[in-house]
Amino acid sequence: TYTVECRYMNGVASEGAVMVTFQDTTHLEHASQMRRDFVANVSHELRTPLTALMGFIETLRGPARDDPAARDRFLKIMADEANRMNRLVGDLLSLNRVESEERVRPRQQLELTGLLQSTINSLRPLAEDAGVVLSLDVKNGPLSVTGDGDQLRQVFTNLIENGIKYGASGGSVKVRVLPADRDLAMRGPAVRIQFIDKGPGIDAVHLPRLTERFYRADSHRSRQLGGTGLGLAIVKHIVNRHRGRLRVESELGKGSVFTVILPR
Ligand code: ADP
Repeated sequence: TYTVECRYMNGVASEGAVMVTFQDTTHLEHASQMRRDFVANVSHELRTPLTALMGFIETLRGPARDDPAARDRFLKIMADEANRMNRLVGDLLSLNRVESEERVRPRQQLELTGLLQSTINSLRPLAEDAGVVLSLDVKNGPLSVTGDGDQLRQVFTNLIENGIKYGASGGSVKVRVLPADRDLAMRGPAVRIQFIDKGPGIDAVHLPRLTERFYRADSHRSRQLGGTGLGLAIVKHIVNRHRGRLRVESELGKGSVFTVILPR
């Protein structure tokens, strides 16, 4: 797309001449289309639980008013819907914060193994409820990296939670840490952190789009499990801020491996 601007050159040496400027504005149109899509997506995602809430309020005021069992059941659904909205707003705020900081280099000195261990410990109750075994496999001792501790914790949390959420009961999520003095992808010292699950896997057609906001490989399952569709978008931005890489390998029916590569 080109924007064309014509201007009469008055009061200058070339009086009477016309200046025509062509400017390639494809990227601006693309950005504003993306913004419009994003607003439409957010509105849709918020409206779905809101509509459910409004419907249940009406039912509680009317037919279910004198039915304590129905009232309890509806209140539970309403609480779930309110939680869904709360998670969505929380993820939108995280995404906003992460995007605005993307150009600022994080500078904290962190110990990676301890950070992973404490993230895993805090997710153990969730894994136990889902019947999924969590484990950390580190061959080396402490590993220091430069980064933002809260944001890296969010990356690890999102990836482990996905492994638990999409995995079947009786499954496992293994976190493996592989440091290298010279990593091929990073062309220097780096550490690979792998999140390996034996869940349903993801069809190859979806892999290139997984980190787009609101993109879901299995929309029904994601919504059923309370997903916002923003987790991997947040992960991607944080990994970019750390000048790292995110890789996904997956096979349907076999499971998935998400790899975060961080420079050291
Ligand atoms: P959601 O909130 O839907 O989980 P994410 O951005 O975290 O959103 O993930 C995007 C989509 O990628 C999910 O909807 C799901 O279809 C797929 N996905 C992510 N992680 C896994 C996994 N470990 N196993 C299977 N599918 C996954």
